[in-house]
Amino acid sequence: MLYLNGQFVRIEDAKISALDRGCLFGDGVYEVIPVYSRQPFRLAEHIRRLEASLAAIGLSNPHHAEEWMALIAQVISLQDYEDQSIYLHVTRGATGERDFPFPANTTPTVLINPTPLVVPSAEVKATGVRAISHADFRWLRCDIKSLNLLPAVLLRQAAKQAGCAECVMFRNGMLTEGAASNIFVVKNGIIATPPKDHLILPGITYDVVIELAQQHQLPLEARRISEAEVRSADELWMTSSTKEVLGIIELDGKPVGNGCVGPLARQMDSYYYEFKQSIMRKPTSC
Ligand code: PMP
Repeated sequence: MLYLNGQFVRIEDAKISALDRGCLFGDGVYEVIPVYSRQPFRLAEHIRRLEASLAAIGLSNPHHAEEWMALIAQVISLQDYEDQSIYLHVTRGATGERDFPFPANTTPTVLINPTPLVVPSAEVKATGVRAISHADFRWLRCDIKSLNLLPAVLLRQAAKQAGCAECVMFRNGMLTEGAASNIFVVKNGIIATPPKDHLILPGITYDVVIELAQQHQLPLEARRISEAEVRSADELWMTSSTKEVLGIIELDGKPVGNGCVGPLARQMDSYYYEFKQSIMRKPTSC
């Protein structure tokens, strides 16, 4: 069951207008919220980012934070699986015509669609993944989680064709992020990641990783990182709500560091795992 515009319906019964501005222009924003044992992870932060994205595109928020939380809780409870990936989007709705400026008095389209959460297996975490690189040809408001995902579609397709899992992007010789993840580098035991600005999405996992580094006294810097630094890094990681903390072992066919998932990637992934287990998983009864 999914939620569409005030109703809980089966996916085959969910209908939206062919003239929805989400379809015509990608005129909307979205979130993906991981749910572990029916508990949404960092929900308040996801809702805050949604609010920021909506405000940035001048779309008034159809729900207060408490209403969003209640709707998401209902969607979670309607599924017969425990770990979920909640895709949520809000578009500027549908009008009778295809006209660029904001229409007057349209009702936003709200879709909340859950699917089973699939995170990388222990084997993939241990082996790591390969990546390609590409110029970051996206717009200059990458901080908005916009529905305009054509760049990510093209970049992930290029990665897939090269047998890789991600595409690491550079703009003017500096690291930005992955097609659908944030990127961290490690050199000589120091972790670094680009700062939060309009060139990257402020990842929820990015924040968790920074908090965990602080808690465990791992040195971490949020600063500009040159392409040369990425190419000579000891470790490279990608982070996202569904990939969690995943080591990149090869970039453009060349090994990163010694070509294995590095010790800090493994350390951070285990802190992330413990953190997730301690706050999200129900205690198991035996
Ligand atoms: N950057 C981009 C471009 C993304 O699409 C994503 C995943 N949605 C991320 C970073 C990671 O964000 P999060 O940790 O909130 O999933």
